[in-house]
Amino acid sequence: MSYLKDKFQQQGYLTRDQLKKYAKNNGISYDLVKKVLSDLGIKIYDIKPKGKVKSTSGEYEKCVICGRKTEVKVSAKVDTREHYVTGVGQLCEKCHREL
Ligand SMILES: [Zn+2]
Repeated sequence: MSYLKDKFQQQGYLTRDQLKKYAKNNGISYDLVKKVLSDLGIKIYDIKPKGKVKSTSGEYEKCVICGRKTEVKVSAKVDTREHYVTGVGQLCEKCHREL
């Protein structure tokens, strides 16, 4: 798991894609990786490439954790946004509160 811990320390979070890749490279199941990480208290984010998020969300940003539409417009500047976490992205009110 040291690879994932390093990644986590660099980024402050891990994405589902990184975990899937790690599981595949090591011949272990994704569910096992997920379980070990949650035991370590490491959060997993499902982060989609920026362009993809925009094309499916229309005018409003989607929460990077739960995928729900937020009330933040795609065109809004990052420093004026509510519930925006640097390095992670736009969250909805609920996920932001639970962070
Ligand atoms: Zn959310």
